[in-house]
Amino acid sequence: AGAAAAPPPRQSKLEPREELRVEVPPDASLRVRLVAGTAEIFGTELPPEGWVSIPPRSKIAIFSWHGATLELDGPTESEYPSVETPMVIYVNTHAILDARRARARAAAAQGGDLEASQGPRVIVVGPTDSGKSTLCRMLLSWAAKLGWKPTYVDLDIGQGSITIPGCISATPIEKPIDIVDGIPLDMPLVYFYGHPTPSINPDVYKVFMKELAKTLERQFSGNAESRAAGMVINTMGWVEGLGYELLLNAIETFKANVVLVLGQEKLWKMLKDAVQSKPNIDVVKLQKSEGVVLRNSKYRQKTRSFRIKEYFYGIANDLAPHSNIVNFSDVSVYRIGGGHQAPRSALPIGAEPVADPTRLVAVNISTDMIHTVLAISYAKEPDEIISSNVAGFIHVTDVDIQRKKLTYIAPCPGDLPSRLLIASSLTWYEA
Ligand code: ATP
Repeated sequence: AGAAAAPPPRQSKLEPREELRVEVPPDASLRVRLVAGTAEIFGTELPPEGWVSIPPRSKIAIFSWHGATLELDGPTESEYPSVETPMVIYVNTHAILDARRARARAAAAQGGDLEASQGPRVIVVGPTDSGKSTLCRMLLSWAAKLGWKPTYVDLDIGQGSITIPGCISATPIEKPIDIVDGIPLDMPLVYFYGHPTPSINPDVYKVFMKELAKTLERQFSGNAESRAAGMVINTMGWVEGLGYELLLNAIETFKANVVLVLGQEKLWKMLKDAVQSKPNIDVVKLQKSEGVVLRNSKYRQKTRSFRIKEYFYGIANDLAPHSNIVNFSDVSVYRIGGGHQAPRSALPIGAEPVADPTRLVAVNISTDMIHTVLAISYAKEPDEIISSNVAGFIHVTDVDIQRKKLTYIAPCPGDLPSRLLIASSLTWYEA
């Protein structure tokens, strides 16, 4: 089907506590304007004046606490209002967290210990498409609106709301998350796992969680303000088997004290039982929103690609990445997790090869690397790679074996900030 003619600008009225659920098509953006009243998108208020351009492919809800009149301009794939939302429950949850933050701040002012001055560490869990990222976003934006600077931790390597997929990352949220630009990228702390699923190397996933938690712990101990504001942790939608084990691991590693379980009774019960010996952890079941849009694996694969593209080209496709060439000898590429230490034939008879999942393996540059993403490590020496965060990413566009040259694009011009690169299984094909 060809592109349908765009509908004319139209008004839409929201009753108190009603939301308008909208899906923006892949090839156009939608302009939204507040005409009267107040409304918010996932916790961030629409400005009182002017148009907001919602990017292509967005699936959003424009919610109003007290009623609003909106104007919409542009095509949508779907567009319908609903009064059945869990927003009151979510904002009540926010209020409880807010009280805990205030208590932590007061304790810090009175010279309380680290435990008393620690604000809530909230971890949001639930199956895929239960609205985890969206709830995180609302909790963060509502907290930031009140002046808190909570830390957002994203453990969802499948989608990645801070930077590209395949990463475990964290960043402070100092103001409500921008409706168009999303999470601010000025100072994220990023560890590069390099695959969209943890099953490829769960031990490395755990190591990076530990490293991130350690770094945040260090930052918190020197910063009472962010300590009191606490964390909001987003997780993967994989909640069975190994996925469940990793959730428990995350709760422990980040010392989460509030577990919000979205839309699954069984998971809530399992987690509740699992942490019952720890009196300081609240496991709370929350209703999921019917507005959350289901996404199949093909769609997820596509969004992953778009996230990578966005990193180089900008959300509005308005940045031009810089192409550069390096000699093979100018860089060293490593893969984390080399499988077996030694071939069976090299071992004494009867001995089993021991896998070291965090072993670092030097990788020869080959044409297989074309279209993949490489991360630039902050490590100074290769053996620091496993404990180092990354400065950014490059995308390999060509490998010339004869001339021993690798061509890549990067978001910034100039030389690579480090010669130590981490290989990944993340690919993106320029259309
Ligand atoms: P995953 O486990 O895959 O990371 P998730 O549980 O984090 O998924 P979200 O990313 O929060 O789920 O939501 C899925 C999609 O639904 C997103 O595109 C989000 O913007 C959209 N969405 C969430 N809530 C609503 C709503 N009330 N109305 C319309 N769209 C919504």
